[in-house]
Amino acid sequence: MAANSEWFEKDYYKILGVEKSATDKDLQKAYRKLAKQFHPDANPGSEEKFKEISVAYEVLGDPKKRSEYDAIRAQGPFVSRGGMPPQGGFNFKVDDLGDLIGGLFNRGRKPNQAGQQRGGDLETTLSVSFAESIEGVTAAVVVTGETPCSACHGTGAAPGSAPQQCARCQGTGSVNENQGFFSFSQPCPACHGRGYRVDLACPACQGRGTQTQKRQINVRVPPGVIDGQKIRIKQKGQPGQNGGPAGDLYVTVKVGSDQRFGRRGNDLTTVVQITFPEAVLGTTIQVPTLNSKVTLRVPEGTKAGQILRVKGYGVAPHGRRTVAGDLLVTIEIVVPKNLSAEQRKAVEELARVLPEKRR
Ligand SMILES: [Zn+2]
Ligand SMILES: [Zn+2]
Repeated sequence: MAANSEWFEKDYYKILGVEKSATDKDLQKAYRKLAKQFHPDANPGSEEKFKEISVAYEVLGDPKKRSEYDAIRAQGPFVSRGGMPPQGGFNFKVDDLGDLIGGLFNRGRKPNQAGQQRGGDLETTLSVSFAESIEGVTAAVVVTGETPCSACHGTGAAPGSAPQQCARCQGTGSVNENQGFFSFSQPCPACHGRGYRVDLACPACQGRGTQTQKRQINVRVPPGVIDGQKIRIKQKGQPGQNGGPAGDLYVTVKVGSDQRFGRRGNDLTTVVQITFPEAVLGTTIQVPTLNSKVTLRVPEGTKAGQILRVKGYGVAPHGRRTVAGDLLVTIEIVVPKNLSAEQRKAVEELARVLPEKRR
């Protein structure tokens, strides 16, 4: 996977000073200008900035990488293990539905309208193999939940009929209630805060404006994910009400075990067996890595249980090789059984010439 955690953290568009809608030409132009301005030859001390610009253009300048980057950015930040969803947080980003309803009646309707409500969060789990957890994977989860009704686009009005502006609240969704000296703003009781009323209810959703549907959502699991870690996917939870934003989807990752490898932080662990003569004399062996094999030198006089380290063949969290862990190889020495007469003789001879006894 080409993506790394920098993609979550860095806004390459901002770095290049262009809009998200910039064309390839715009990007090229912006990059050339900045590269000239911050080139370290002309501008000592600007290496970092120059590098940053180059990395940004390397991604955005490549249409394939750019679309991957956009997709990752759209998923929002990564939530660490045990992170709790922000409950009831009202984040008033008007979504498509809000725009639609706002556009029908009340352009410029304030986003903190009384009737608006953020959709609930959804939770699901995703099982990945051990190897996938190390390397990262994109996998689909299916969630069942409410989505805007496809027949009425969430308005609740039967197709062909139009929702009518609510007379009581003039389409604002809220009314002012006077109590003594005070005036309270509250959701309009006539339209339940929607700002409109429906004369002919949509038959598909009975006027609720939502339907229960199975949705398939692709989840990018970053490399190095830990069992139990949660990934937040913004606005893929329950739809909001009356133009409120959708809730978020939280995906808990379950990581399977592996016969060959274990994990200790960012290090991978494995066990390799060698013979007694190999332990005594030293040898070179092939040890498995996740994808292939690597050659490991076992030094002369290696003890049983000794751990040999293969640098850089561990877990690279978020794909960053620079902080990769190591592969820790525990050496086991095989003790042969059912010896032939010749073997037994050889071992007895060995015992005779190696009389060392320490107990
Ligand atoms: Zn409907
Ligand atoms: Zn109303």
